[in-house]
Order: sequence, then C-alpha cells, then structure tokens
Amino acid sequence: MTTKKADISWKDLKFGYLKTDYRFVSHYKNGKWDDGQLVSDDYLRIHESSTALHYGQQCFEGMKAYTAKDGRILLFRPDRNAARMRQSCEALLMAVYPEDKFVDAVKKVVKANERFIPPYGEGASLYIRPFLIGVGENVGVKPASEYVFSIFVTPVGPYFKGGLNPCHFVTSEFDRAAPRGTGAAKVGGNYAASLKAHQIAVEQGYTDCIYLDPATRTNIEEVGAANFFGITKDNVFVTPDSPSILPSITKYSLLHLAEHNLKLKTEQRDVPVSNLDELVEAGACGTAAVITPIGSITHCGITTKFYRDGTEVGPITKKLYDLLTGIQFGDIEGPENWVVEL
Ligand SMILES: *Cc1c(COP(=O)(O)O)cnc(C)c1O
Repeated sequence: MTTKKADISWKDLKFGYLKTDYRFVSHYKNGKWDDGQLVSDDYLRIHESSTALHYGQQCFEGMKAYTAKDGRILLFRPDRNAARMRQSCEALLMAVYPEDKFVDAVKKVVKANERFIPPYGEGASLYIRPFLIGVGENVGVKPASEYVFSIFVTPVGPYFKGGLNPCHFVTSEFDRAAPRGTGAAKVGGNYAASLKAHQIAVEQGYTDCIYLDPATRTNIEEVGAANFFGITKDNVFVTPDSPSILPSITKYSLLHLAEHNLKLKTEQRDVPVSNLDELVEAGACGTAAVITPIGSITHCGITTKFYRDGTEVGPITKKLYDLLTGIQFGDIEGPENWVVEL
C-alpha cells in the first residue's frame, strides 16, 4: 500500500519550513536517554534557564530522504551525520545520542511522514533536521545536566535558486568561526555569527558570501553554509583544508567520486584567494546546496569569473552533480553503504 501524498506543488517548493505530521523527541535526564517517541506537537516546552537559550549549547544536523524511480525511500550516508553529531556534542560537552539510535530515529520519523516525501523527478526531497539542545535549570556557565534530542522533517526544493545556473559570491570581511574555535562543529553559534555577513552579501547583489580562513584571511574557507571546491586547469579537484571548516559529508563524497569515478587527482589544501585564476570551475557543496556552480567570486573589488565567464556550469562540476544526485536518487549504484533504504 502506498500512502496518499500530501497536496503540495512539489516543483514550486523552496528551501523552507512546512509543518509535517510527526517529529521525534527524546529526553536525557539522570544520565540516560529515554526511548523517545513520535509526537505531533511542533512546539518544545523547555526551562527558561536552558543552556541552549543562553550559552549556545546546541548542535544540529542536516540530511535528506529521496524517492527513487521505483518508489523506494533512500537516505544518503546517515551514519556520517550520526558520527558528526557525536563530534559536535563532544565539542560542546553535551550528552551524545547513540549513533545507531540516531539512524533508527531518522528512519522512524521519515517513515511516519511518508506523505511529505517528494515523489521522484520533482527536483525536491525531504529535508531532515536532527538537533540536540541543553535544557533544564542551570544559570551558571556550565554544561546542562538535561538534554533534548529531536528530529523534524520538511519537504524542500533547492537552497540556492537556479538549479545548475552559476551563482555569484563575494568574500566577507567577517569570520564565521575562530581559528581554533567551533568551526568544525555544526553548532548554532557559527550560524548566528554568519547572519550579518550573509545579509551584507545579499544587499550587495550576491547570492551569499565566502568566508576566508580566520587565521590568515588569505585562503578560501566556506561558501555561506556550504563547502568549497574547484577544478584546476589540469583537472585537479581541490578543496580547502582547515580545522575551522565544517566537514561536509557531500564534500567527502565528491572527493571520493572525483577520484574513483572520474579518475581525477584530488587535493585537500589551501586555496589562496589571490590565486583563483588557477581554477577553471568552482562550486559550493552541501546537503542543502547539493552542488551549486560558482560563476564568480569578488574579493576586494576584483571579480574572478569561472567557466565560460561565469555563465555556465563547467563539465566536471556537471558530471559530479549527475553522479552525486544519481546515487542519492537511486539511479546510479554508489559505493557500498552510501545509500540506505528505508
Ligand atoms: C552542514 C554544513 C555544510 C555541509 O555539510 P553536508 O554534510 O555536506 O551537508 C557545510 N558548511 C557548513 C557551515 C555547514 O553547517
């Protein structure tokens, strides 16, 4: 039996929130997690002195469920999100939600909201947002003794509008994270610090801003809330290497696909903003951004354009996009254990 789909114009979906039927909620108290349950209430009731509200003790994840051509529901590398949330929790001294239970809870909440999973071929998917917050009575600056782990889902379309049309970016004079701070953890604090930089870039007519490495401000670090990659004149796939970059699962997947499927040389190394001419293609990658071609980067008033003067997606970026999305939607067989069927 197939569930009747929700009455949604899938093709018009943007990257926004739409209330679905169920979310998963689990509480941590007295040193242990409860079994958790699916609830329909989209509000959380938490104590006014929760550390999440005052000291930013919270983290989150972002992943997607896809409908394959034959109707199967697929997750892309959910074990990697579970592992990364553990690392984020460890960075902020929060209770860790067990990785195997994380994946089980994701499956449970996706299944419960099946009617909101966009059908195959609509260019949309079900965005999954797990998050973990410090709660309970606690006014001093110290880790909370109680936590809430929750997952909600919402159907989404593209993050940067325009599909595979190149977007244009400008470097920011702000940093999203400190050199030895929490840049590698998926925590809200990094995002609070990015809102102003994003707004300034948009006001200047750009899609988003590019962050430079906070230690030296000479290398490309992140593209808004996505990782950066480029293709050199010699067809080398390059992506920045820095302890303050969020380790994107999409980026590591592209590194693998570039090397093993496209047989390209790959390099994780500094990408100097003064040497962007070495790149013929550039892109932003992440669960939300998927692969978004970068048409140009403006830095200190100088604009560097990429493939065909920044007007078209480059051939390698296109190949990577087709491979990645082909695997995610079940059209192409990916490496073992990348795709998990519900
Ligand atoms: C989540 C995130 C990414 C992308 O990571 P994926 O695992 O590929 O979704 C990139 N940069 C930042 C800052 C992020 O928060």
